[in-house]
Amino acid sequence: MSVSLPTAASLYDRVKRVIPPIEWPAFAGDIEAILALKAKRNAVILAHNYQTPEIFHCVADIVGDSLALARKAMAVDADIIVLAGVHFMAETAKLLNPGKTVLIPDLGAGCSLADSITAADVRLMRQRYPGTPVVTYVNTSAAVKAESDVCCTSGNALAVVESLGTPRVIMLPDEYLAKNIAAQTKVEIIAWKGHCEVHERFSSADIRELREAHPGVTVLAHPECPPEVVAEADFAGSTAAISGYVGRHKPARVVLMTECSMSDNVAVEHPEVDFVRPCNLCPHMKRITLANIRAALVENRHIVTIDPNVAERARHAVERMLAI
Ligand code: SF4
Repeated sequence: MSVSLPTAASLYDRVKRVIPPIEWPAFAGDIEAILALKAKRNAVILAHNYQTPEIFHCVADIVGDSLALARKAMAVDADIIVLAGVHFMAETAKLLNPGKTVLIPDLGAGCSLADSITAADVRLMRQRYPGTPVVTYVNTSAAVKAESDVCCTSGNALAVVESLGTPRVIMLPDEYLAKNIAAQTKVEIIAWKGHCEVHERFSSADIRELREAHPGVTVLAHPECPPEVVAEADFAGSTAAISGYVGRHKPARVVLMTECSMSDNVAVEHPEVDFVRPCNLCPHMKRITLANIRAALVENRHIVTIDPNVAERARHAVERMLAI
């Protein structure tokens, strides 16, 4: 039975608030080609919240934050997964879907947090704090996950830390996420010095300037922001929690202290909300484009592989998180 695909023109209706008409013709051809290639190759596209709207709203099958992508990837009935996001996300999808081909359209799509720590660093931390469990943020390589007891995301970090029942935990690699979680729990948190190069650039002075320029604006921050930013925000949470907050509260005017495309993607769903956009782009996320997604599907590239010994231990840390 043939399935009729949406046309690029019908998809434009969804995103016309955030993509000017003059830009659309540059996207339409790739979108139609990708929709046809997905059907032909039994492929699905997983897109993170920081992907641009023409990817997020027009070609993705599953969208969300790292946790949602990791979870939903497990239920995917497809031969091929294309990960529109960064490399550690593609590795996580491969960990949870070892029998499927996982493709990342650009191998250079890294992450400053993932690059801040190695497996050897984790082993050194264990030597320094013997017997202390290691909680590792999903924004890490499979090799680092493999050295950990359990993974976490910004959405479940507090629950993961408190589930361990120990007086102290090592939490790697995001220093600010660790400090923001430490402010909410009695568990002693030992942090690493990794930072997200996008969120570390926000400051509390930015928030004060925004509040002055836009009286009454609601400020929502991601917990990878410095603690003083989180303290001055009206709400802090993962990208899924931020999106949920906008949906529930429908503030008249809102600013998201996170990656630029997140505002565009949430704005598509909430035309009644006015989004102020202080923009910090993630250069790694922006390496993924319609053109390289199309090339990934045509040329079956770049296939994500993980050493089986590493994969087994890393999968255990991710699955332990998913069970919490
Ligand atoms: S936004 Fe920050 S944490 Fe996310 S991929 Fe980019 S550098 Fe990494």
